[in-house]
Amino acid sequence: MAKQAKKRATRKTAARRPRQAPKMLSDLFLETLKDIYFAENKILKTLPKMAKAAHSKQLAAAFNKHLRETQGQVKRLEQIFRMLGKPARGKPCEAINGITDEGAEIMKDFKGAPALDAGLLAAAQAVEHYEISRYGTLRTWAEELGMADAARLLQATLDEEEATDHALSELATSVINLEAEQEMREAA
Ligand code: FE
Ligand code: FE
Ligand code: FE
Repeated sequence: MAKQAKKRATRKTAARRPRQAPKMLSDLFLETLKDIYFAENKILKTLPKMAKAAHSKQLAAAFNKHLRETQGQVKRLEQIFRMLGKPARGKPCEAINGITDEGAEIMKDFKGAPALDAGLLAAAQAVEHYEISRYGTLRTWAEELGMADAARLLQATLDEEEATDHALSELATSVINLEAEQEMREAA
């Protein structure tokens, strides 16, 4: 008679239970891509208004130049969505909504005022800084995820955002000088 082996509990007490797939860096990457996709589309609608409002021709030209770049940036994001096999879809970004709301408020409150351009510049730089932060993060995550092509596209956009930020800083001096002259003339 075969001795039946005594069955012993082999299972560990902390047995593995099925649970939801953990959120990975790739999930975060996709969510953040949707965030900046929403932001870029919002910026596409905002830049023409800012260009129209600007007193300085140079400032208006800078906004229009960046509008064209932004159209290309949206295309780059769409390329990355395609690489991921996901539809290009935005997710409301409250940060860009807030920053552009502030810009709209300046345009309204400083309409026709000498300080308008300084305000537009400040609003535009706030937008660029948000984008620089997002693209820097996305580029780094793309590298970590082994997505070299996506990283290159994100770096190309990051370079444009940084160049725009620098160009706006350069303009700030001339815009503020122009404004000071105007204020002096008005005071005379
Ligand atoms: Fe952009
Ligand atoms: Fe956001
Ligand atoms: Fe930008």
